[in-house]
Amino acid sequence: MRPELQPILNRLLCRECGGRCCQGGPGIWVDPARFFDLFFGGEQLPLEELRERLFPIGLFLWEMNDVSIPAPGSTSAGCGFLGVDGCRFSVAERPCQCLALIPNRATLEQSEGSLCTMPKRFRRKVARENWRRYWQTV
Ligand code: SF4
Repeated sequence: MRPELQPILNRLLCRECGGRCCQGGPGIWVDPARFFDLFFGGEQLPLEELRERLFPIGLFLWEMNDVSIPAPGSTSAGCGFLGVDGCRFSVAERPCQCLALIPNRATLEQSEGSLCTMPKRFRRKVARENWRRYWQTV
């Protein structure tokens, strides 16, 4: 079942924060079907083909306990898609986790880290399971 995605964006708060979540590392696409709809016109690709086609668009395969999950590239500063004006993806393209994160203003009251929370159905464990099942079908 596809996780329902209702972005909870608070642009003012995120601007004020400067994207601490993005500086920690990129979010990932939890829903394989959404990922392929966005970047490959709905065509679902096998692993080796996907690996080759990700690099030119700035994405890579993140390995989580032997399951490959597409993710934005990262740098020592965090997500490679974090630009001076914020995320370089359109809102519609952003990883599921980036859209699902629930902002928490209390994050700004501490000097580092983030208190924003990820709903259970968008956590890494769920993403890993979704992608594990996906790779069994192609
Ligand atoms: S994809 Fe965009 S919103 Fe997500 S972590 Fe990277 S810069 Fe932040």
